[in-house]
Amino acid sequence: MSILIKNGWIITQNENRDVMRGDIYVEDGKIVEVGNVNVEAEHKINAENMIVMPGLINTHTHVAMTDMRGIADDVDLEDFLAIMWKEEAKRNREDIYHGAKLGIEEMLRTGTTSFVDMYSDEDIIAKAVKESGIRGFLGWAVVDKEITTQEGNPIKNAEKFIRKFQNDKFVTPFIAPHAIYTCNEETLLKSKEIAEKYGTMITMHVSETRKEVYDHRKKFGLRPVEWLEKIGFLSDKLLGAHMVWLTLHEIKILSKRGVKVSHNPTSNMKLGHGGSMPLIEMLQNNVLVTLGTDSAVSNNNLDMFEEMKFAALLHKNERWDASVTNAQMILDFATINAANALNLNAGSIEEGKLADIVIVDATEPNARPLRKDNIVSNIVYSISGLNVKYTIVNGKIVFERKG
Ligand SMILES: [Zn+2]
Repeated sequence: MSILIKNGWIITQNENRDVMRGDIYVEDGKIVEVGNVNVEAEHKINAENMIVMPGLINTHTHVAMTDMRGIADDVDLEDFLAIMWKEEAKRNREDIYHGAKLGIEEMLRTGTTSFVDMYSDEDIIAKAVKESGIRGFLGWAVVDKEITTQEGNPIKNAEKFIRKFQNDKFVTPFIAPHAIYTCNEETLLKSKEIAEKYGTMITMHVSETRKEVYDHRKKFGLRPVEWLEKIGFLSDKLLGAHMVWLTLHEIKILSKRGVKVSHNPTSNMKLGHGGSMPLIEMLQNNVLVTLGTDSAVSNNNLDMFEEMKFAALLHKNERWDASVTNAQMILDFATINAANALNLNAGSIEEGKLADIVIVDATEPNARPLRKDNIVSNIVYSISGLNVKYTIVNGKIVFERKG
């Protein structure tokens, strides 16, 4: 399949972060040419008055929970988890499949081309991924076997899942220990062992609430990241979600170990965590920061455009300084940084990259006026996911908004 995108405003996200007017030719899943292209293609998209950009990458969600939107609002994490675990115990694999289908539909409609997930029954979610054409980095959730509601041993289930999907084109299997308060040292180190054995990644909630940090320190005498370092769990294969309550010492540990971070500002604010992820200190210490929505129960949508805006605003307000974040920095989190964190050949519009592309209708009033110098600003601060006109994954149009 080939696609020629003509005359768009292209946000390349290349090394120079060039924004240019031009064409993109896509063939067999890859971007073949960017610039002034005159070739025939099976599909031609007239992108005049449209913004063409790399697909957004959501690095933390629980997509199967999308059909539970609105069931646990206005409570803190402790009550949230109590409600969720009670509800989830009632759910069957059919419910998980339908939840995943709904969430993936929402992501494709709002410009997300890849997502990182954490849940049990990821084999069912993998089915939904493959039917839709999105890319899924699916982390099979692991907790201690004494508390699991999964059938059998969660670690063994995760390993079976990784073995089954390790060479899949659209599904990249991860292992996902839930958190330090649901996984003991043995569970965590076994998860790491599995990740090493299959050369895959680990994703986990880390230092999300102040209570998590206090409880852990009371029990083990160390803060979560210090303890994870002590037991030998940290590595560049870890993508940690939330990472709100950290000291500078812990940030330096994360940096030394090459741990990647998924920042989830909307979920953190909705659950009233009080603090904010120390973004500025992370960037000063060269920690790779990406962006995630978390689930539709703690967000309550999966729109990465909205997530970008909240990420930018949160830190300006927190620091009493509007200059600490800017639109380009935040767009990097959701595109090129995330691709680098996941070792995915995407995240920018460049020749040879995977053709994961989003095209935004810039004729909508909230996208105007549009000039070269305000395009990135409009993407982060004024445009919503519902402005997306086309979503292309691996060179295939997987969503097109009609009308
Ligand atoms: Zn989460």
